[in-house]
Amino acid sequence: MDWSEEDKLVQHADYWLQRAGGLKDEDLYFYNQPLEELHGGARVAVRGREMLMFASYSYLGLLGHPRINAAATAAVDKYGTGTHGVRLLAGTLRLHEELEETIANFKHAEAAITFSSGYVTNLSVVSTLVGRHDTVICDKLNHASIVDGCLLSGAKFLRFKHNDLPDLDRTLAKSDPKGVRLVVVDAVFSMDGDVINLPGVAALCKKHHAWLMVDEAHSLGMLGKTGRGIEEHFGMDNAIDIKMGTLSKTIPSVGGYVAGRKELIHMLKHASRAFIFSAALPPAQAAAAKAAFEVILDEPERVAALSRNAAQFMNGLKQLGFDTMRTSTAIVPVLCGVDMRAYEMTQHCQHRDIFVLPVVSPAVPDGQARLRATVTAGHSPQEIEQALDVFEFAGKQVGII
Ligand SMILES: *Cc1c(COP(=O)(O)O)cnc(C)c1O
Repeated sequence: MDWSEEDKLVQHADYWLQRAGGLKDEDLYFYNQPLEELHGGARVAVRGREMLMFASYSYLGLLGHPRINAAATAAVDKYGTGTHGVRLLAGTLRLHEELEETIANFKHAEAAITFSSGYVTNLSVVSTLVGRHDTVICDKLNHASIVDGCLLSGAKFLRFKHNDLPDLDRTLAKSDPKGVRLVVVDAVFSMDGDVINLPGVAALCKKHHAWLMVDEAHSLGMLGKTGRGIEEHFGMDNAIDIKMGTLSKTIPSVGGYVAGRKELIHMLKHASRAFIFSAALPPAQAAAAKAAFEVILDEPERVAALSRNAAQFMNGLKQLGFDTMRTSTAIVPVLCGVDMRAYEMTQHCQHRDIFVLPVVSPAVPDGQARLRATVTAGHSPQEIEQALDVFEFAGKQVGII
């Protein structure tokens, strides 16, 4: 193909070049920066400069944990770096079964299945559970991977207002009771840091005979006294039919899982296309994930440190006058307003060695651009204070405090 200006695909590519290029010219582009060293997670090196990391998903600071690293290394020594293919055929190792048993126990479920990413888990699981004659109902702020799974499924796709129980009740009431009805929500919302009202949502699902799937990407290891997630947080057991999570955030690996009744897991292992047509998790990643679940239970002080740090960070930002929206977790949005203000805020922070990134439209509504700051169990109180000082300076420079 010629690279012709009239071509629609060329125009699309050009849009993204222009959008990023304009920011790069103004030194406002901080995406896709390669990190060179991790120093255990709370600090990173970027182009030779050491920075404090406030954009990490490694909430419990488990990246680089010696026991997890050792498990991964041992798995490579034993099995090599890949598998013989897809799970259904020759790709399953004893290690995958052990990982799935570990996840099932951790989540108080009968069984579990793993996939090669969290994104793919949502895509494949939602589209296996519901189809053309069914209805899937989502919170408006659900993660993109859930939305994509809903679209792929071909099911009737309904959305209710964020964390709004009366609106969910109405939506369920008007949905077709003949097909399967599946409600899907995030446990902790990834751009806002607030927690779904699980008791309310579970009660409505029961009332309307709907299935409930919850994405715990940001609640695993974060919520509950022992880090088991949102059910532990609310003192509930088996409120969720399909317990989904990722192995790439608190769990320092890659992959996704679903835990639930053994019949459901059996069905997913034979009918979900990502399990059947995409390669198994590599041995090192499976072994690392399994070890990480064990470390969470063996080192409960990490979960306690995370909630302490989240409180210090959030309260510190609030006291400085920032709008942290509705967060109650270690994901702390710092509302900036228009996209440009979020870019400028980022620039001030990055130039003062705080690694933080902006989230802009269309990932969040227009005019609600924000820094999506996260704190981890690995930060010391002094490091959080240091970050707060920089945020104060930056916030005053751009005029949001
Ligand atoms: C990150 C994320 C995913 C995707 O997980 P990956 O393992 O990174 O593919 C799914 N759901 C939510 C809510 C997430 O934040």
